[in-house]
Amino acid sequence: MGEIPEKQVGEAGSHKQHISSTAGLPDQVGNVARRTMEELAEDIVASQGKSKFSLGPLEKVYVFWLAGMSCDGCTVSVSGATEPALEDLLTGSIPGIPLVVLHHYVLQLEAGDHYMRTLELAEQGKLDGPYVITYEGSIPDENLTLGGEPFAGEGSFPLFAPSEERRRISTAEWIKRLAPGAAATIAIGTCATWGGIPAAYGNVTGSMSVMDWLGKDYRSALGLPVINIPGCAPVGDNFTDAVQAILLFLQGLGPLPEFDELGRPAWQFGDTVHRKCGRAGYYEEGTFATEYGDKECLVEVGCWGPVVQCNITEKGAISHMGGCMNAGGPCIGCTMPGFPDKFAPFYKAPPGSTISSNASRLMGAIVRPLRRISQRERNREIRWHDTVPSGWAMEQGDTSITHKILEFFYERMQFLGSNRPGRDLHEEKYPTGYRSLPKQLYGENYQVLPEEREKKAKHR
Ligand code: SF4
Ligand code: SF4
Repeated sequence: MGEIPEKQVGEAGSHKQHISSTAGLPDQVGNVARRTMEELAEDIVASQGKSKFSLGPLEKVYVFWLAGMSCDGCTVSVSGATEPALEDLLTGSIPGIPLVVLHHYVLQLEAGDHYMRTLELAEQGKLDGPYVITYEGSIPDENLTLGGEPFAGEGSFPLFAPSEERRRISTAEWIKRLAPGAAATIAIGTCATWGGIPAAYGNVTGSMSVMDWLGKDYRSALGLPVINIPGCAPVGDNFTDAVQAILLFLQGLGPLPEFDELGRPAWQFGDTVHRKCGRAGYYEEGTFATEYGDKECLVEVGCWGPVVQCNITEKGAISHMGGCMNAGGPCIGCTMPGFPDKFAPFYKAPPGSTISSNASRLMGAIVRPLRRISQRERNREIRWHDTVPSGWAMEQGDTSITHKILEFFYERMQFLGSNRPGRDLHEEKYPTGYRSLPKQLYGENYQVLPEEREKKAKHR
Protein backbone atom coordinates (compact mmCIF):
# COMPACT_ATOMS: atom_id res chain seq x y z
CA MET A 1 0.00 0.00 0.00
CA GLY A 2 1.39 3.40 -0.89
CA GLU A 3 2.22 6.03 1.70
CA ILE A 4 0.62 9.40 1.17
CA PRO A 5 3.14 12.25 1.28
CA GLU A 6 2.96 13.96 4.67
CA LYS A 7 2.13 17.35 3.19
CA GLN A 8 -0.87 15.77 1.52
CA VAL A 9 -2.09 14.15 4.70
CA GLY A 10 -2.05 17.44 6.58
CA GLU A 11 -1.14 18.18 10.16
CA ALA A 12 -0.89 15.13 12.39
CA GLY A 13 -2.38 15.46 15.84
CA SER A 14 -0.30 13.34 18.32
CA HIS A 15 -0.05 9.79 16.91
CA LYS A 16 -3.53 9.98 15.34
CA GLN A 17 -4.06 11.71 12.05
CA HIS A 18 -6.57 14.47 11.94
CA ILE A 19 -8.17 14.57 8.52
CA SER A 20 -7.44 18.22 7.91
CA SER A 21 -8.30 20.58 5.08
CA THR A 22 -8.00 19.25 1.58
CA ALA A 23 -7.21 22.69 0.18
CA GLY A 24 -4.06 22.56 -1.87
CA LEU A 25 -4.21 18.81 -2.49
CA PRO A 26 -4.03 17.70 -6.09
CA ASP A 27 -6.75 16.04 -8.07
CA GLN A 28 -9.79 17.32 -6.16
CA VAL A 29 -12.06 16.91 -9.13
CA GLY A 30 -15.58 18.00 -8.41
CA ASN A 31 -15.06 18.94 -4.77
CA VAL A 32 -16.31 22.47 -5.12
CA ALA A 33 -16.67 22.71 -1.33
CA ARG A 34 -12.92 22.09 -0.94
CA ARG A 35 -13.72 20.43 2.38
CA THR A 36 -13.59 16.94 3.80
CA MET A 37 -16.72 15.28 5.19
CA GLU A 38 -15.26 15.63 8.66
CA GLU A 39 -14.65 19.34 8.23
CA LEU A 40 -18.18 19.76 7.01
CA ALA A 41 -19.56 17.89 10.02
CA GLU A 42 -17.41 19.91 12.41
CA ASP A 43 -18.61 23.15 10.78
CA ILE A 44 -22.21 22.05 11.28
CA VAL A 45 -21.62 21.24 14.92
CA ALA A 46 -19.75 24.51 15.50
CA SER A 47 -22.63 26.40 13.89
CA GLN A 48 -24.89 24.90 16.57
CA GLY A 49 -22.73 26.51 19.25
CA LYS A 50 -21.35 23.24 20.62
CA SER A 51 -17.76 22.95 21.76
CA LYS A 52 -17.98 19.18 22.37
CA PHE A 53 -19.98 16.86 20.19
CA SER A 54 -21.51 14.51 22.69
CA LEU A 55 -22.22 13.74 26.33
CA GLY A 56 -20.35 10.40 26.47
CA PRO A 57 -16.80 9.23 25.93
CA LEU A 58 -17.10 9.24 22.13
CA GLU A 59 -16.92 12.52 20.26
CA LYS A 60 -17.05 11.17 16.76
CA VAL A 61 -17.48 7.89 14.94
CA TYR A 62 -16.48 7.26 11.34
CA VAL A 63 -18.83 5.16 9.24
CA PHE A 64 -17.41 3.65 6.07
CA TRP A 65 -20.14 2.56 3.67
CA LEU A 66 -18.88 -0.06 1.22
CA ALA A 67 -20.83 -1.68 -1.58
CA GLY A 68 -20.57 -5.03 -3.31
CA MET A 69 -23.14 -6.63 -5.60
CA SER A 70 -25.79 -4.06 -4.88
CA CYS A 71 -28.50 -2.03 -6.56
CA ASP A 72 -27.98 0.96 -4.21
CA GLY A 73 -31.49 0.41 -2.85
CA CYS A 74 -30.17 0.30 0.72
CA THR A 75 -28.56 3.71 0.20
CA VAL A 76 -31.83 5.08 -1.14
CA SER A 77 -33.73 3.67 1.85
CA VAL A 78 -31.33 4.98 4.46
CA SER A 79 -31.16 8.43 2.89
CA GLY A 80 -34.96 8.54 3.30
CA ALA A 81 -34.94 7.48 6.96
CA THR A 82 -36.83 9.74 9.33
CA GLU A 83 -36.65 8.18 12.80
CA PRO A 84 -33.96 9.25 13.19
CA ALA A 85 -33.03 10.88 9.90
CA LEU A 86 -29.56 10.37 8.48
CA GLU A 87 -29.11 14.13 8.68
CA ASP A 88 -29.72 13.97 12.45
CA LEU A 89 -26.80 11.55 12.82
CA LEU A 90 -24.54 13.53 10.51
CA THR A 91 -25.14 16.85 12.21
CA GLY A 92 -24.90 15.68 15.82
CA SER A 93 -28.52 16.74 16.36
CA ILE A 94 -29.45 13.85 18.63
CA PRO A 95 -28.55 14.56 22.26
CA GLY A 96 -25.79 12.30 23.51
CA ILE A 97 -24.95 10.81 20.13
CA PRO A 98 -21.42 11.33 18.86
CA LEU A 99 -20.92 13.03 15.55
CA VAL A 100 -21.20 10.52 12.71
CA VAL A 101 -18.68 11.17 9.95
CA LEU A 102 -20.04 9.24 6.99
CA HIS A 103 -17.84 8.13 4.12
CA HIS A 104 -20.19 7.11 1.36
CA TYR A 105 -19.38 6.84 -2.32
CA VAL A 106 -22.47 8.82 -3.35
CA LEU A 107 -22.73 11.37 -0.57
CA GLN A 108 -19.01 12.10 -0.25
CA LEU A 109 -17.57 15.57 -0.81
CA GLU A 110 -14.11 14.25 -1.63
CA ALA A 111 -13.44 12.20 -4.72
CA GLY A 112 -10.80 9.78 -5.98
CA ASP A 113 -7.73 9.31 -3.80
CA HIS A 114 -8.94 11.97 -1.38
CA TYR A 115 -11.95 9.80 -0.67
CA MET A 116 -9.84 6.67 -0.28
CA ARG A 117 -7.32 8.31 2.00
CA THR A 118 -9.52 8.09 5.11
CA LEU A 119 -10.09 4.36 4.54
CA GLU A 120 -6.34 3.87 4.34
CA LEU A 121 -5.84 5.79 7.59
CA ALA A 122 -8.52 3.65 9.22
CA GLU A 123 -6.71 0.48 8.28
CA GLN A 124 -3.48 1.90 9.63
CA GLY A 125 -5.18 2.76 12.94
CA LYS A 126 -4.49 6.46 12.42
CA LEU A 127 -8.00 7.88 12.73
CA ASP A 128 -8.86 10.08 15.67
CA GLY A 129 -11.99 8.08 16.48
CA PRO A 130 -13.44 4.56 16.17
CA TYR A 131 -14.97 3.43 12.93
CA VAL A 132 -17.87 1.26 11.84
CA ILE A 133 -18.18 -0.53 8.50
CA THR A 134 -21.48 -0.74 6.73
CA TYR A 135 -21.62 -3.09 3.78
CA GLU A 136 -24.37 -2.95 1.15
CA GLY A 137 -24.73 -5.75 -1.42
CA SER A 138 -23.32 -9.24 -1.40
CA ILE A 139 -19.65 -10.09 -1.69
CA PRO A 140 -18.64 -11.73 -4.97
CA ASP A 141 -15.89 -14.29 -5.42
CA GLU A 142 -13.24 -12.12 -7.01
CA ASN A 143 -11.35 -15.27 -8.12
CA LEU A 144 -14.01 -15.62 -10.82
CA THR A 145 -13.31 -12.29 -12.50
CA LEU A 146 -11.54 -12.06 -15.81
CA GLY A 147 -8.66 -9.68 -16.43
CA GLY A 148 -8.05 -8.79 -12.80
CA GLU A 149 -10.82 -6.18 -12.60
CA PRO A 150 -12.99 -6.76 -9.53
CA PHE A 151 -16.73 -7.29 -9.78
CA ALA A 152 -17.06 -4.67 -7.05
CA GLY A 153 -14.14 -2.36 -6.31
CA GLU A 154 -13.38 0.85 -4.50
CA GLY A 155 -10.23 2.85 -5.25
CA SER A 156 -6.77 1.67 -6.20
CA PHE A 157 -3.40 1.61 -4.45
CA PRO A 158 -0.90 3.16 -4.04
CA LEU A 159 -2.81 6.41 -3.63
CA PHE A 160 -1.62 9.37 -5.68
CA ALA A 161 0.61 7.05 -7.76
CA PRO A 162 0.71 6.92 -11.58
CA SER A 163 -1.98 4.65 -12.98
CA GLU A 164 0.44 2.00 -14.25
CA GLU A 165 1.62 1.38 -10.69
CA ARG A 166 -1.84 0.95 -9.24
CA ARG A 167 -3.97 -2.05 -8.38
CA ARG A 168 -7.76 -1.87 -8.09
CA ILE A 169 -9.01 -2.86 -4.65
CA SER A 170 -12.15 -4.94 -4.40
CA THR A 171 -14.63 -4.16 -1.64
CA ALA A 172 -14.24 -7.82 -0.59
CA GLU A 173 -10.61 -6.98 0.15
CA TRP A 174 -11.57 -3.74 1.85
CA ILE A 175 -13.81 -5.51 4.29
CA LYS A 176 -11.09 -8.02 5.12
CA ARG A 177 -8.71 -5.10 5.73
CA LEU A 178 -11.10 -3.00 7.81
CA ALA A 179 -13.31 -5.50 9.65
CA PRO A 180 -10.80 -6.54 12.36
CA GLY A 181 -10.30 -2.95 13.52
CA ALA A 182 -13.94 -1.87 13.17
CA ALA A 183 -15.94 -1.14 16.31
CA ALA A 184 -18.81 -2.88 14.52
CA THR A 185 -19.51 -4.33 11.10
CA ILE A 186 -23.06 -3.80 9.90
CA ALA A 187 -24.44 -5.69 6.92
CA ILE A 188 -27.34 -3.75 5.47
CA GLY A 189 -29.90 -5.23 3.09
CA THR A 190 -30.58 -8.86 2.31
CA CYS A 191 -27.69 -9.15 -0.16
CA ALA A 192 -25.20 -8.22 2.57
CA THR A 193 -26.94 -10.06 5.42
CA TRP A 194 -27.71 -13.39 3.76
CA GLY A 195 -26.60 -13.21 0.08
CA GLY A 196 -29.89 -12.11 -1.45
CA ILE A 197 -30.60 -11.98 -5.16
CA PRO A 198 -26.94 -12.08 -6.37
CA ALA A 199 -26.45 -15.31 -4.35
CA ALA A 200 -29.66 -16.98 -5.59
CA TYR A 201 -29.57 -20.24 -7.58
CA GLY A 202 -27.41 -19.64 -10.63
CA ASN A 203 -25.07 -17.30 -8.70
CA VAL A 204 -22.65 -16.57 -11.54
CA THR A 205 -20.49 -14.29 -9.37
CA GLY A 206 -20.12 -16.70 -6.44
CA SER A 207 -21.75 -14.07 -4.24
CA MET A 208 -22.20 -14.49 -0.50
CA SER A 209 -23.10 -12.51 2.58
CA VAL A 210 -20.77 -10.55 4.85
CA MET A 211 -21.23 -13.26 7.53
CA ASP A 212 -20.27 -15.96 5.03
CA TRP A 213 -17.25 -13.95 3.88
CA LEU A 214 -15.88 -13.08 7.33
CA GLY A 215 -16.69 -16.46 8.88
CA LYS A 216 -18.30 -17.51 12.15
CA ASP A 217 -15.26 -16.59 14.25
CA TYR A 218 -15.30 -12.96 13.17
CA ARG A 219 -15.59 -10.45 16.00
CA SER A 220 -15.22 -6.70 15.70
CA ALA A 221 -12.82 -4.69 17.86
CA LEU A 222 -15.66 -4.44 20.40
CA GLY A 223 -16.23 -8.20 20.28
CA LEU A 224 -19.38 -8.13 18.14
CA PRO A 225 -20.21 -10.57 15.35
CA VAL A 226 -21.66 -9.05 12.17
CA ILE A 227 -24.84 -7.04 12.85
CA ASN A 228 -27.49 -7.80 10.23
CA ILE A 229 -30.22 -5.42 9.08
CA PRO A 230 -31.97 -7.28 6.26
CA GLY A 231 -34.57 -6.18 3.72
CA CYS A 232 -34.68 -5.79 -0.03
CA ALA A 233 -34.63 -2.86 0.23
CA PRO A 234 -34.47 -2.55 4.03
CA VAL A 235 -36.54 -0.10 6.01
CA GLY A 236 -34.18 2.88 6.20
CA ASP A 237 -35.23 3.65 9.76
CA ASN A 238 -34.05 0.21 10.87
CA PHE A 239 -30.47 1.21 10.05
CA THR A 240 -30.47 4.68 11.60
CA ASP A 241 -32.41 3.41 14.63
CA ALA A 242 -29.92 0.54 15.19
CA VAL A 243 -26.93 2.89 14.82
CA GLN A 244 -28.56 5.28 17.27
CA ALA A 245 -29.20 2.48 19.79
CA ILE A 246 -25.61 1.20 19.55
CA LEU A 247 -24.13 4.68 19.92
CA LEU A 248 -26.34 5.53 22.90
CA PHE A 249 -25.20 2.31 24.57
CA LEU A 250 -21.54 3.07 23.88
CA GLN A 251 -22.04 6.52 25.40
CA GLY A 252 -23.47 4.96 28.54
CA LEU A 253 -26.80 6.63 27.83
CA GLY A 254 -28.90 3.70 26.62
CA PRO A 255 -29.56 0.03 27.40
CA LEU A 256 -27.62 -2.79 25.78
CA PRO A 257 -29.29 -3.32 22.39
CA GLU A 258 -30.58 -6.87 22.00
CA PHE A 259 -29.70 -8.89 18.91
CA ASP A 260 -31.24 -12.21 17.92
CA GLU A 261 -29.50 -15.45 17.02
CA LEU A 262 -28.73 -14.14 13.53
CA GLY A 263 -27.50 -10.74 14.65
CA ARG A 264 -30.70 -8.86 13.78
CA PRO A 265 -31.82 -6.05 16.12
CA ALA A 266 -34.33 -8.07 18.17
CA TRP A 267 -36.66 -5.13 18.70
CA GLN A 268 -37.01 -4.74 14.92
CA PHE A 269 -37.18 -8.34 13.77
CA GLY A 270 -38.62 -10.20 16.77
CA ASP A 271 -42.17 -10.29 15.40
CA THR A 272 -43.63 -11.55 12.18
CA VAL A 273 -44.91 -8.92 9.79
CA HIS A 274 -48.33 -10.60 10.01
CA ARG A 275 -48.74 -9.73 13.70
CA LYS A 276 -48.82 -6.02 12.97
CA CYS A 277 -50.27 -6.11 9.48
CA GLY A 278 -53.29 -3.89 8.87
CA ARG A 279 -54.97 -6.85 7.14
CA ALA A 280 -54.48 -9.31 10.02
CA GLY A 281 -58.09 -8.82 11.13
CA TYR A 282 -59.29 -10.12 7.76
CA TYR A 283 -57.11 -13.18 8.18
CA GLU A 284 -58.54 -13.80 11.62
CA GLU A 285 -62.09 -13.56 10.26
CA GLY A 286 -61.22 -15.82 7.35
CA THR A 287 -61.76 -13.37 4.48
CA PHE A 288 -59.11 -13.36 1.79
CA ALA A 289 -58.28 -11.32 -1.29
CA THR A 290 -58.70 -13.12 -4.57
CA GLU A 291 -57.26 -10.33 -6.70
CA TYR A 292 -54.59 -7.67 -6.25
CA GLY A 293 -56.27 -4.48 -5.18
CA ASP A 294 -58.70 -6.25 -2.86
CA LYS A 295 -58.68 -4.95 0.69
CA GLU A 296 -58.62 -8.31 2.48
CA CYS A 297 -55.73 -10.48 3.63
CA LEU A 298 -53.32 -11.32 0.81
CA VAL A 299 -52.24 -14.79 1.92
CA GLU A 300 -54.04 -16.59 -0.88
CA VAL A 301 -52.40 -14.40 -3.49
CA GLY A 302 -48.95 -15.20 -2.13
CA CYS A 303 -48.31 -13.47 1.21
CA TRP A 304 -45.66 -15.08 3.44
CA GLY A 305 -46.25 -12.56 6.26
CA PRO A 306 -47.25 -15.09 8.96
CA VAL A 307 -43.71 -16.56 9.00
CA VAL A 308 -41.59 -13.59 7.95
CA GLN A 309 -39.71 -11.44 10.46
CA CYS A 310 -40.12 -7.87 9.31
CA ASN A 311 -41.47 -4.60 10.76
CA ILE A 312 -42.51 -2.76 7.61
CA THR A 313 -46.20 -2.65 8.48
CA GLU A 314 -45.22 -0.82 11.67
CA LYS A 315 -42.62 1.48 10.19
CA GLY A 316 -43.83 1.92 6.62
CA ALA A 317 -41.32 2.18 3.80
CA ILE A 318 -40.57 5.82 4.59
CA SER A 319 -41.98 7.92 7.41
CA HIS A 320 -44.74 5.45 8.26
CA MET A 321 -46.05 5.50 4.72
CA GLY A 322 -46.25 2.73 2.15
CA GLY A 323 -44.59 -0.65 2.44
CA CYS A 324 -45.78 -3.98 1.04
CA MET A 325 -49.19 -4.91 2.50
CA ASN A 326 -49.93 -1.26 3.31
CA ALA A 327 -49.63 -0.59 -0.41
CA GLY A 328 -51.41 -3.78 -1.52
CA GLY A 329 -48.43 -6.08 -2.11
CA PRO A 330 -48.09 -9.52 -0.50
CA CYS A 331 -44.96 -10.25 1.52
CA ILE A 332 -42.38 -12.15 -0.53
CA GLY A 333 -40.02 -12.73 2.39
CA CYS A 334 -37.35 -10.25 1.36
CA THR A 335 -35.88 -9.91 4.87
CA MET A 336 -35.33 -13.63 5.29
CA PRO A 337 -32.33 -15.91 4.77
CA GLY A 338 -33.01 -17.94 1.64
CA PHE A 339 -34.70 -15.06 -0.18
CA PRO A 340 -35.55 -15.22 -3.06
CA ASP A 341 -35.34 -18.99 -3.72
CA LYS A 342 -37.09 -20.17 -0.55
CA PHE A 343 -40.04 -17.87 -1.25
CA ALA A 344 -40.41 -18.68 -4.95
CA PRO A 345 -42.57 -18.68 -6.95
CA PHE A 346 -43.75 -15.25 -5.89
CA TYR A 347 -47.48 -14.49 -5.74
CA LYS A 348 -48.48 -18.10 -5.11
CA ALA A 349 -50.09 -19.06 -1.78
CA PRO A 350 -47.40 -20.49 0.56
CA PRO A 351 -48.03 -24.22 1.09
CA GLY A 352 -48.13 -23.82 4.89
CA SER A 353 -50.92 -21.26 4.67
CA THR A 354 -53.55 -23.81 3.58
CA ILE A 355 -54.16 -25.21 7.07
CA SER A 356 -54.26 -21.90 8.93
CA SER A 357 -56.26 -19.97 6.34
CA ASN A 358 -58.87 -22.73 6.11
CA ALA A 359 -59.06 -22.88 9.92
CA SER A 360 -59.63 -19.09 9.93
CA ARG A 361 -62.27 -19.49 7.23
CA LEU A 362 -64.12 -22.05 9.36
CA MET A 363 -63.87 -19.99 12.53
CA GLY A 364 -64.74 -16.84 10.60
CA ALA A 365 -67.99 -18.41 9.37
CA ILE A 366 -69.13 -18.52 13.01
CA VAL A 367 -67.51 -15.40 14.34
CA ARG A 368 -68.34 -12.95 11.54
CA PRO A 369 -72.18 -13.15 11.87
CA LEU A 370 -71.93 -12.85 15.66
CA ARG A 371 -69.69 -9.82 15.33
CA ARG A 372 -72.12 -8.27 12.84
CA ILE A 373 -74.93 -8.55 15.41
CA SER A 374 -72.77 -7.07 18.12
CA GLN A 375 -71.51 -4.35 15.80
CA ARG A 376 -75.07 -3.48 14.83
CA GLU A 377 -75.96 -3.00 18.48
CA ARG A 378 -72.86 -0.96 19.24
CA ASN A 379 -73.70 1.24 16.25
CA ARG A 380 -76.66 2.75 18.10
CA GLU A 381 -76.94 5.53 20.61
CA ILE A 382 -78.58 4.68 23.92
CA ARG A 383 -81.50 6.98 23.02
CA TRP A 384 -82.31 5.07 19.81
CA HIS A 385 -84.79 2.55 21.18
CA ASP A 386 -87.40 2.10 18.49
CA THR A 387 -86.10 4.24 15.66
CA VAL A 388 -82.83 5.58 14.31
CA PRO A 389 -83.28 9.23 13.27
CA SER A 390 -80.99 8.88 10.26
CA GLY A 391 -81.69 10.25 6.81
CA TRP A 392 -79.11 7.82 5.50
CA ALA A 393 -79.45 4.09 5.04
CA MET A 394 -79.64 3.04 8.70
CA GLU A 395 -83.13 1.59 9.27
CA GLN A 396 -85.72 3.98 10.69
CA GLY A 397 -88.56 1.60 11.33
CA ASP A 398 -89.50 -0.17 14.52
CA THR A 399 -86.95 -2.44 16.16
CA SER A 400 -87.64 -6.11 15.58
CA ILE A 401 -88.46 -8.49 18.41
CA THR A 402 -85.31 -10.52 17.68
CA HIS A 403 -83.27 -7.38 18.00
CA LYS A 404 -84.85 -6.61 21.36
CA ILE A 405 -84.29 -10.14 22.69
CA LEU A 406 -80.65 -10.15 21.57
CA GLU A 407 -80.06 -6.76 23.07
CA PHE A 408 -81.65 -7.86 26.33
CA PHE A 409 -79.31 -10.85 26.71
CA TYR A 410 -76.29 -9.00 25.37
CA GLU A 411 -76.68 -6.28 27.97
CA ARG A 412 -77.12 -8.81 30.77
CA MET A 413 -73.81 -10.40 29.75
CA GLN A 414 -72.09 -7.07 29.26
CA PHE A 415 -72.82 -5.82 32.77
CA LEU A 416 -72.65 -9.16 34.53
CA GLY A 417 -70.70 -8.57 37.74
CA SER A 418 -70.30 -4.85 37.08
CA ASN A 419 -72.30 -1.67 37.37
CA ARG A 420 -74.16 0.01 34.57
CA PRO A 421 -73.19 3.60 33.84
CA GLY A 422 -75.43 6.28 35.33
CA ARG A 423 -76.87 7.09 38.76
CA ASP A 424 -79.62 4.51 38.84
CA LEU A 425 -78.24 2.41 41.66
CA HIS A 426 -79.62 3.11 45.08
CA GLU A 427 -76.26 3.87 46.67
CA GLU A 428 -75.32 6.24 43.85
CA LYS A 429 -78.47 8.31 43.94
CA TYR A 430 -78.16 11.87 45.13
CA PRO A 431 -78.37 11.71 48.96
CA THR A 432 -80.72 14.69 49.02
CA GLY A 433 -83.15 12.89 46.78
CA TYR A 434 -82.38 15.39 44.02
CA ARG A 435 -83.38 14.23 40.55
CA SER A 436 -81.70 15.70 37.48
CA LEU A 437 -83.83 18.07 35.41
CA PRO A 438 -84.40 15.63 32.52
CA LYS A 439 -85.56 13.02 35.02
CA GLN A 440 -87.81 15.50 36.75
CA LEU A 441 -89.39 16.38 33.41
CA TYR A 442 -89.51 13.03 31.62
CA GLY A 443 -89.18 10.43 34.33
CA GLU A 444 -87.55 7.14 33.34
CA ASN A 445 -88.04 8.08 29.67
CA TYR A 446 -85.46 10.84 29.87
CA GLN A 447 -83.08 8.87 27.59
CA VAL A 448 -85.64 8.57 24.80
CA LEU A 449 -85.83 10.54 21.56
CA PRO A 450 -88.37 13.42 21.69
CA GLU A 451 -90.50 11.90 18.89
CA GLU A 452 -90.56 8.51 20.59
CA ARG A 453 -91.40 10.14 23.88
CA GLU A 454 -94.43 11.76 22.26
CA LYS A 455 -95.49 8.43 20.75
CA LYS A 456 -95.15 6.73 24.10
CA ALA A 457 -97.18 9.51 25.75
CA LYS A 458 -100.00 9.08 23.14
CA HIS A 459 -100.11 5.33 23.70
CA ARG A 460 -100.39 5.75 27.44
S1 SF4 B 1 -51.65 -9.76 4.12
FE1 SF4 B 1 -50.01 -11.17 4.79
S2 SF4 B 1 -49.18 -10.28 6.63
FE2 SF4 B 1 -51.12 -9.26 6.23
S3 SF4 B 1 -52.64 -10.43 7.40
FE3 SF4 B 1 -52.56 -11.35 5.39
S4 SF4 B 1 -51.06 -13.00 5.56
FE4 SF4 B 1 -50.76 -11.65 7.30
S1 SF4 C 1 -43.25 -7.34 4.19
FE1 SF4 C 1 -42.12 -9.02 3.25
S2 SF4 C 1 -41.60 -8.30 1.17
FE2 SF4 C 1 -42.20 -6.51 2.41
S3 SF4 C 1 -40.26 -5.70 3.24
FE3 SF4 C 1 -41.10 -7.10 4.79
S4 SF4 C 1 -40.16 -9.06 4.30
FE4 SF4 C 1 -39.88 -7.78 2.51
